[in-house]
Parts: sequence; C-alpha cells; structure tokens
Amino acid sequence: MIFSQIFDMLDAGIVILDKDLRVSKWNRWMSTHSDIHSERIIGKPLFNFYPELNEPWFLRNCKSVFTFGNFAFLSYKLHNYCFPFKSYNSLGYDFEYMQQNCTVGPLRNDDNNIDYIYITVIDVTEVASYEQKLIEMNTRDGLTDIYNRRFFDTRIEEEFVRHKRYSRPMSMIMLDIDFFKKANDTYGHQAGDFILISLTKLITDRLRKTDIFCRYGGEEFCCILPETTIDSANSLAEELLNAVFSHTFVFNKININITISLGISVLDDDINSAETLLKKADDALYQAKQEGRNQVVVASS
Ligand code: GH3
Ligand code: MG
Ligand code: MG
Repeated sequence: MIFSQIFDMLDAGIVILDKDLRVSKWNRWMSTHSDIHSERIIGKPLFNFYPELNEPWFLRNCKSVFTFGNFAFLSYKLHNYCFPFKSYNSLGYDFEYMQQNCTVGPLRNDDNNIDYIYITVIDVTEVASYEQKLIEMNTRDGLTDIYNRRFFDTRIEEEFVRHKRYSRPMSMIMLDIDFFKKANDTYGHQAGDFILISLTKLITDRLRKTDIFCRYGGEEFCCILPETTIDSANSLAEELLNAVFSHTFVFNKININITISLGISVLDDDINSAETLLKKADDALYQAKQEGRNQVVVASS
C-alpha cells in the first residue's frame, strides 16, 4: 500500500515489464505524460502502444537485463527519449519531445531469478535545453547569429580532411566590407551594426544549406563551400558582389550604400593544409583591395 503510494507520487516514470515485455506496472507519472491510463496498458505488450520501441537498440538492452541482470542506461544524448511525450513548449524549450534519461534494470524474485525488469524515466528536457543553448552561444556570433571564428576553425579542418581524402572539390571565399570605418564614422556605430546584420542576411539567402558562413573578424567574413568548384565559387562571389552593390541599407531613414571585396581559393593538389587554403583566399582578398575594391579576385594556383 505504502509502496504503491510512493510509486505514484514519484516525479519520474516507472514501468515494469514481464519477460514478454508486457506492461505489469505503469505509474501515475507515466499515465499523466502518456495520456494512457494504467488500466488500459497493464497486461498488454508495450509495443502495442509504442511500436517505435520494437527496435534492436531497445530490445537488446531489455534482453541483456533479463539474461545478465545488468543495468542499461539509455541517455538522452544518444536516443533523446524512449517514450515520445510532447514537451511543454510554453516553457521555451526547443524540443518537441521530452528529453529522457532512462534506466533499465532487473527485479529479482525470492529465488534470485529475474521475472521482471523495470524502466525509470527521468525528464531532462530543461538540462538538455540549457546545454543546447550553451553550445549555440559557443558557436555563434552574438551580433549576426552566424557561426563564429571558433566554430570556423574546427569546421575548416574537418572539411579540409574530408575533401582531401575523397579528392572532392572545395572552395573558400573571404570577404571584407570596403571602407567600413568610414561608414561607422559617417553614420555611427549603430548603423554599422545594422549593416553587418543586414549584410549577413543578404549573403545567407544566397548560400546553400551545406555552405558554412562565419564572421571571421570585425567586418570580415569567410565562407567554406563544400563540393564546390572554383567556377561555381566564382559565380557565387560575383552574385554576392552585385547583391551588396545594388542593395541600399536603410537605417533610421538614411540610405547607405556599401561595397565588398572578395578573395577565392580552391583546394587543389598542392594545398596541404586548411591554413594554406585560408591564406590563399586572404591573399586574393588583399589583392582585390589593392586593385581598387568592389571586386572578386581568384587566387592563382
Ligand atoms: P578596407 O576597405 O581596407 O577594408 O577598409 P575598412 O575601413 O573597412 O577597414 P579597417 O580595418 O580600417 O576598419 C574596419 C572597421 O570595422 C573598424 C571597426 O570600427 C569596424 N568594425 C569592426 N567590427 C565592428 C562591429 O561589430 N560593429 C561596427 N559597427 N563596426 C565594426
Ligand atoms: Mg574592411
Ligand atoms: Mg577588415
């Protein structure tokens, strides 16, 4: 009696399954979150209600607990959840479903045999949500919300290794706003910030989902273009150049026009490090500045 009260009062889900994985117990927490009353599910195979659990990863864990009496920990980091319960979006979580840490363990009878196993379900949506926000903050630039330099530095290495190994084309565009200091001095720092934000939107709209666009420094940006030949990168760079050139940034009813300079490099046989690829794009950008700005320069091979 006391045990059944505790069982129903716990702020965690508890499910007990028999050897055929039929539900033997289903506490109130499980009823509340699943909308399935214990009377309806007890005695029925769990998979009648949760066919998505009828998968090797779940079956393997249950079987091993019955056979060896071990404990299996099913972390949200690997599976997100065992039971698809809708999460409370009103709390501002980014997850559609409650993130769960689940443990599967043995229940032994007086003869020390395992006739039942239990599953505990802990709601870790809040922790997972904070964790996701921290990761986002660590990888994104605070002003423009595109990727930051830290993220860029790891991704460039990964993409370089991957493309080199499979001899796949890959290009890089470095771009920098022309005379941005003057824009700041003339229209104010807030206008400058507004331009940076608008510019990243203008560019993001013209990129593919697989392109990796980062704020490399103050008014300098870098774009990793996986699976992209030098010709395609060049067309894209020209498109960006023209898009910025023909766009009027309107801040506090003031029309502002800016231009950008771009440098392009491509991964060819004699480039042996991500650093060299970057250096070549940077040199090309420098050349674009030297030759009058508002233009694209392709690094020579
Ligand atoms: P160039 O054509 O040679 O690139 O000239 P530039 O004036 O753009 O280059 P410079 O490096 O001399 O100046 C960059 C300016 O960018 C100076 C700095 O105030 C501005 N800047 C950098 N980060 C930010 C930012 O986050 N917000 C604003 N508003 N301005 C920024
Ligand atoms: Mg500049
Ligand atoms: Mg600069």
